[in-house]
Amino acid sequence: MQTYRIHIEGIVQGVGFRPFVKRLAERFEISGTVQNGLDGVRIIFNAKDPDHAQIFLDTCVSEAPKQSRIDHYSMELVDSERFDQFELCLSAGQGVLNAPITPDQGLCKQCSEELLDPANIRYGYPFISCTDCGPRYSILNGMPFDRETTTMDLFPMCSNCEKEYNNVDNRRFYSQINSCPECGIQLSLWTASGELEMTAQEKVDEVIKALRSGFIVAVKGIGGFLLLCDASNTKSIQLLRERKVRPDKPFAVLCPSLESIQSNFIPSTAEQKALQSAAAPIVILKPRKGNLLDLKFVSPGLDSVGTMLPYAPLLKVIANQFMEPLVATSANKSGQPLIYKYAEELLDLADIVLDHNREVTFPQDDSVVRFTPFTDHQIVMRRSRGLAPSYMAKSNELDGLLAVGAEMKGTFAVGHCDQVYISQYLGQLGSFDNQENYKYVLNKLTSMIGCNPEVVLHDLHEQYFTTELASEYTLEQISVQHHEAHMMAVLYEHSQLESNEPVLGVVWDGTGAGTDGAVWGSEYMVYDDGHIDRLAHWDYFPVIAGDKMSKEPRLSALAILGENSGLEKKFTNQEWSYYSKLRKQESLQTSSMGRIFDAVASVLGLIDVSSYEGQAAMLLEQLALKFYIENGPNSPGSYDIPLDSLNTYELLDMILDDVCQEIEPNKIAAKFHETLVSSISHMIHIGQFQKVAFSGGVFQNGLLVDLIQFRMEDHVQTYFHQQLSPNDENISLGQMVHYRYIQSKEPLKTFKQQEQCV
Ligand SMILES: [Zn+2]
Ligand SMILES: [Zn+2]
Repeated sequence: MQTYRIHIEGIVQGVGFRPFVKRLAERFEISGTVQNGLDGVRIIFNAKDPDHAQIFLDTCVSEAPKQSRIDHYSMELVDSERFDQFELCLSAGQGVLNAPITPDQGLCKQCSEELLDPANIRYGYPFISCTDCGPRYSILNGMPFDRETTTMDLFPMCSNCEKEYNNVDNRRFYSQINSCPECGIQLSLWTASGELEMTAQEKVDEVIKALRSGFIVAVKGIGGFLLLCDASNTKSIQLLRERKVRPDKPFAVLCPSLESIQSNFIPSTAEQKALQSAAAPIVILKPRKGNLLDLKFVSPGLDSVGTMLPYAPLLKVIANQFMEPLVATSANKSGQPLIYKYAEELLDLADIVLDHNREVTFPQDDSVVRFTPFTDHQIVMRRSRGLAPSYMAKSNELDGLLAVGAEMKGTFAVGHCDQVYISQYLGQLGSFDNQENYKYVLNKLTSMIGCNPEVVLHDLHEQYFTTELASEYTLEQISVQHHEAHMMAVLYEHSQLESNEPVLGVVWDGTGAGTDGAVWGSEYMVYDDGHIDRLAHWDYFPVIAGDKMSKEPRLSALAILGENSGLEKKFTNQEWSYYSKLRKQESLQTSSMGRIFDAVASVLGLIDVSSYEGQAAMLLEQLALKFYIENGPNSPGSYDIPLDSLNTYELLDMILDDVCQEIEPNKIAAKFHETLVSSISHMIHIGQFQKVAFSGGVFQNGLLVDLIQFRMEDHVQTYFHQQLSPNDENISLGQMVHYRYIQSKEPLKTFKQQEQCV
């Protein structure tokens, strides 16, 4: 009989890993112990012989719980110790944290069934959970993941829950967040006149009654409060838009079940899989004809809707009882952070508030993903609940770095003891409240994992909130150019930093400070062996009226096409003379691809003034997509501009000509997309590239991503973001990678840190 020690690292805490190991040990007739540590799970055990030990290890890895993610494992022979049985030990809290943080897990199938089973003790209990599902990161106060380190520590288990917790055959064995109606979390219901005293079921009934009467209800979900209203009730949706100050930006809807989604939408297999995944994100779907939604108000001007399944049991209870699709949107005013603690201001947004007494520690919006129209390639639009904050497999190369990201889609990233943590989406950081929330999450997460960064990385843009924040650190401060950071992020996602051949980068977005003082955004870059260079970009055009230009596509059209373009009708006389003058005076130049999309959308008459970011680009993509749906995937041809020059002016002139000649708008939109793809193919051809990587918010355009893949020659390898969004959410990671691979070229990890981490 020999004694072995297995060490397993990765997402192995809060996913039922220890109970799984204990059951496995019983199956293999193995005695020993299993324990959570700050750096994963350790199993010490007696085995009959090396083969017996090896097969036990192999099975641990091959049959691991489905929510776990094993990054690394090892087994060694240790000093002999004799065990009579197999035991789960308490977590060891000493040492240095070296483990990913488990994201929140959507309601699992079994809990969902129990929730709806009148014979079950948790029937209708809106906080049912198990080792496979329930909140994790959103209730975390410390590491490793145990009841005491979460906000569940205020809820001692009743004797029945305790029994389940200690019973190896129970699926709640060692479930750290186990609770039931007897001992668990309490709902509270609030209106403007105060708290309403009633039973839990009466509170839910009251909520349903309010929804049916057209009221707006705030419900505390996993990462914070959601606002719900009837998705078929025009008046309610309009009222919600007024209260949120959100005139057009699409709302997501919550459907009670997959069947309900299928009867209202047309989800592909990949989309259904994403909806039902443990991350349970919002998935953007095509509505079905005859659906029950008031689409004109849910998703104005768009023929797609963000859709989700109830990822929290409380949402399941409400959605099931309501039976029809509900609008579900984060509880905040436009541009403000999500509200996650009961506050009076909730009653400015909602008529009735359903709160509960399990605290949220890490507020998170819902994650959003979409799939491209033809190849079902997944694009993360927002990485938050269910996906954040742990990122990829372990590596020590980014240790000691803190990157504060950009401004439009705030995130930060830290490297610590072989792990990379990238925060959830933290909003547009121009707003004071979003800035405060950013600082709160940054401080809480970094102190929880106990990291001590040595270098802080920030954007080149001096006026970004994050740049100012970086300057407050008494650490070495280093700036990273925005588009170079994008490029490095996508290369890191695909392990292409050690590539033995140059990689072409196509980095297209709305804005980013360039090294020449211009605003960049349509960049072709090359990464080669630790060097990054800007190869080319679409021609600069003047910035008119600063930030206002990004909100008014007509200004981009004017900036590129000038005064003799028949654009006067889009402006009042006064505006026209003012902006025309500005155009001539303006010295700031931009190559922004986002603004080029805006200009084309305006010229096509789609939109002149937008009410949310990305609106013009979404409308233009949708218009082009119509062309391919009607005519098949063949190219309608591209605009015949000399591709060596990337002449923005010439491109827009040709588009304007087509508009004047009354060419079908959807064909013009398609030809514009094809021209962009041709420019990439041309760049690949002249540089003889075998690899091309894509980053920047423009690549949230699913049609563009599909066209690139259709038109690309077979020998060219393409890389799109996988776990991260192509938008500015990936800048923080890119900043770190830029420092590591371009600026310093060596891991920062000092000897002292190395000792701590081992
Ligand atoms: Zn469950
Ligand atoms: Zn209980």
